[in-house]
Amino acid sequence: MGSVGENIAEVRGRIAAAAERSGRTADDVTLVCVTKTRTVEEIREVIEAGECSLGENRVQEFLEKYDKVQDIADKSAKKPNIMWNLIGHLQRNKVKYLTGKVALVHSVDSFRLAEEFNARGAKAGVPTDVLIQLNMGGEAQKSGVSISDCRALVGEIAGCLPYVRIRGLMAVVPMADDPEDVRGYFRDAKLTFDALAKERGGLEAGFEHLSMGMTHDYEVAIEEGATMVRVGTAIFGLRKG
Ligand SMILES: *Cc1c(COP(=O)(O)O)cnc(C)c1O
Repeated sequence: MGSVGENIAEVRGRIAAAAERSGRTADDVTLVCVTKTRTVEEIREVIEAGECSLGENRVQEFLEKYDKVQDIADKSAKKPNIMWNLIGHLQRNKVKYLTGKVALVHSVDSFRLAEEFNARGAKAGVPTDVLIQLNMGGEAQKSGVSISDCRALVGEIAGCLPYVRIRGLMAVVPMADDPEDVRGYFRDAKLTFDALAKERGGLEAGFEHLSMGMTHDYEVAIEEGATMVRVGTAIFGLRKG
C-alpha cells in the first residue's frame, strides 16, 4: 500500500474506469472515505488529498471527531465542505446527536427510527437526508430490510414524515471471496432503486443515491449502477479493531 494520498488516487482511477464500463463518468460516483477507527491525523491526509465525503459507523466516534475534523477543514487551503455520512446501525436514542450534523444517514431500516429523525428534525427545523438500508442477503447479523419491506417502508416514511427526506437506498451484500459472486445482489438492488425512483419522481424528488460497494467489491457495484461507494481499507490499510 502507498500513502493515503496515493491510495486515494488509485481508488479514484478504479472508480473512473468502472464508471466508464457502466456508461457513466467518475463524476457520477461519490466516494465516501470510511474513516471509522482512523485517527484525526489520518483524516487530515484524506482532506489534503481533496476528499470531502467521510463515513463513520458509530455515533460516539463520529461526535469525538466532528469538531476536530471541521477545524482541519476550516484551516486547510481548499476549505472543503465536509459531508459526513453515517453508515452504521443506529439506535433511536442516538438520533438527537445527529440532526444538523450529518449530510446523509445511510442506515435507516425501520419506521420507528425514521420517526425519531422526524421528531428531532421538526424540533430543530432541519430535515435529515436518509437512505433506506437493504439487507440483500437476508443475513441475520446485518441490519437492513428486504426488498419488499423496503418498498413498504419508503411509502410509509414519504407519506407522513416531512423532516425525513429519502434520498435513495444503501445495499449491504454478503461477504464473498470473489466479488463476481455478489454481482446479482447489486443488480437486484439497482432494479429496486430504479423502480422506486420512478415511483417517487426520480431526480426531481431527490431520490438519486444508490450506496453500494466497499473495498473488495466497489468496482462491481459501480458496474451495476452504484452512485456512491463506501471505501475504508483500500485507502487506509487493514483496520486493527
Ligand atoms: C466499514 C464499512 C465500510 C468500509 O469497508 P472497507 O472494507 O474497509 O472498505 C463500508 N460500509 C459499511 C457499512 C461499513 O461499516
